[in-house]
Amino acid sequence: MMDRDLNPCSDFFQYSCSKWLKANPIPSDQPGWGTFNSLALWNIAAVRETLEQAAAGSANRTDVEKQVGDYYAACADEAAVNRAGFAPLLPMLDRIGKLKDKSQLPELIAYMHQRIRPANLNFIDAQYQGVLFGIYAAPDFDDARVTLATLDQSGMNLPAREFYLKDDEKSKQIRDQYVKHVARMLALSGESQAKAAADANVVLSIESALAQAAMDIVLRRDPKNQNNRMTLAEVQALTPAFNWKNYFAAMQAPDSPQYIVAAPDFFRGVQKLIATEPIEHWQAYLRYSALHAAAPFLSAPFVQENFDFYGRILSGTPAIQPRARRCSYSTDIDLGEAVGQAYVARYFPPENKTRMLEMVKAIESALDVDIENAAWMSSPTKKLAHEKLAAQIDKIGYPNRWRDYSSVEIRRDDYLGNVQRASAFEIGRRMARFGKPTDRQDWNMTPPTVNAYEDAQSNTINFPAGILQPPFFEAAQIDAVNFGAIGAVIGHEIIHGYDDQGRKFDAQGNLRDWWTPDDAANYDQRDGCITDEYTQDVPEAGVKQNGKLSAGEDTADNGGIHIALGGLQRHLTAQGRDLDSLTKDGLTELQTFFLSYAHVWCGQQRPEAARTAVMSQGHSLGRYRINNVIANMPEFAHAFGCKAGQPMVHANACRVW
Ligand SMILES: [Zn+2]
Repeated sequence: MMDRDLNPCSDFFQYSCSKWLKANPIPSDQPGWGTFNSLALWNIAAVRETLEQAAAGSANRTDVEKQVGDYYAACADEAAVNRAGFAPLLPMLDRIGKLKDKSQLPELIAYMHQRIRPANLNFIDAQYQGVLFGIYAAPDFDDARVTLATLDQSGMNLPAREFYLKDDEKSKQIRDQYVKHVARMLALSGESQAKAAADANVVLSIESALAQAAMDIVLRRDPKNQNNRMTLAEVQALTPAFNWKNYFAAMQAPDSPQYIVAAPDFFRGVQKLIATEPIEHWQAYLRYSALHAAAPFLSAPFVQENFDFYGRILSGTPAIQPRARRCSYSTDIDLGEAVGQAYVARYFPPENKTRMLEMVKAIESALDVDIENAAWMSSPTKKLAHEKLAAQIDKIGYPNRWRDYSSVEIRRDDYLGNVQRASAFEIGRRMARFGKPTDRQDWNMTPPTVNAYEDAQSNTINFPAGILQPPFFEAAQIDAVNFGAIGAVIGHEIIHGYDDQGRKFDAQGNLRDWWTPDDAANYDQRDGCITDEYTQDVPEAGVKQNGKLSAGEDTADNGGIHIALGGLQRHLTAQGRDLDSLTKDGLTELQTFFLSYAHVWCGQQRPEAARTAVMSQGHSLGRYRINNVIANMPEFAHAFGCKAGQPMVHANACRVW
């Protein structure tokens, strides 16, 4: 994979990825392509194989096989879905059409929340997509043992708040295209061209007002800004025009001892909107929101129009993915822990879990040593940092107990209905946790997912079986390969517990300042180096990266590879080897480790997708996840003989962990 004609000290991304990039152009149905994606494609092909067998409907199917098979079959029957047009959505559109008075909004919003697929939540950065606002269950910031109802900003159908507020030409152009798209969707659902065009402007105007009221993406990263506990009466006082008792009754939600309002100003904005916008405007906004959420499950014109804007315009992707693949993903999203059982049985043998746990333990030990050796940290803070690490739960592969979907009615001829009923099940499952003890064993990624996460409030790190495959993890590979790839991912997730967000939570997952003021100031100073480094031009995205937005991810990348290397060293020492020992390939262990690390981040994105990613989420693009990180590491300079002054050797090398 190396291009030996290039100099690793000039651009390690090019040195280690250019051959891969040439051999792996972005497929026409993808917004970008990297090693993550090729593994995801492999996983979803495996899922599809299972689903097609289950859908074939042999007499001895288990209940779980019947359920996932019927779900898949309903989606795969494109002719039937096309014949149905948008009829499956008519009950929801009718209810929106019958809205007579704004006092009925709470019941209508509840009806929609119960039928629209909720976003997968991944801690507090997640932009929760819900109509008008988001509702979910999350641990109490002050006492993580209890889960509370959380109300959050949402309701914007563009990818992020910034899309409504930025004033550059590209942003204006996207908004123009958005309004045209909204109009076409409304026209497809039977509105006249003139009404659809007028309504589309209303939709943009309401969503822009929501964006204005919403909390800034960087402010959201500080958990104390989201920690606003209220009684239901206080929530009611915030939005007098929206009757919360009626909403929660319609949601059939249990009482929550307190309510977290993640963004109070957003709800003040909602109050103002309800008070001022006429009923017809609400109907336009809700109608588009319903169409947008349902489009992928309706007939071809809706699927195409939805893809045309969100796929082609926002991500630059020319073609939509094959239907069988979309159906496989859809089944995984709605019935993931049912689909995941077969995946795990076939592709994640118990010995892989054992080997993963050994690596996790070695990397945790490396962080323990790091904490102990940190000259910038005092002993009281070190003691609590050790305690936090010791209290962390490491979840590998799949849940201890599979989620039971048996109450979800799945029909072989009702794709949208299946999605709606599965969504209602998921929303109900989340609401059932209001006021209940927090379940640290719950997962919010499905087993075939190629990803991983840390959750500070449950103090867990979570690695779905889907990422524990080559090139991330391979039982037959030497330690240097596995530690450079999945090891760096393990390290990344562990370090999230000690990044600028995670460090604010203690061993029990409570938002509590356990740092001495001096140690906190030292932390901020060290982290500031990373923030400055990543506040950089991203030419391939055409926008500037905000290092304050990506700080947590960048800190996790930089610290993660460091402790992964520490873990590798422990393993090598036990084998009587060291980092300079040569492997069978004639590379040193250390060179192998860095090449394996880079390989995981080889990839490229279409300019539109890169722009959306840099603006709306915290991860740096692959090129920077490689080059910015390794240039901070003297170990890298040692491995490849790089000298001061070369691009891959930062004069001001940042280091937190
Ligand atoms: Zn991360």
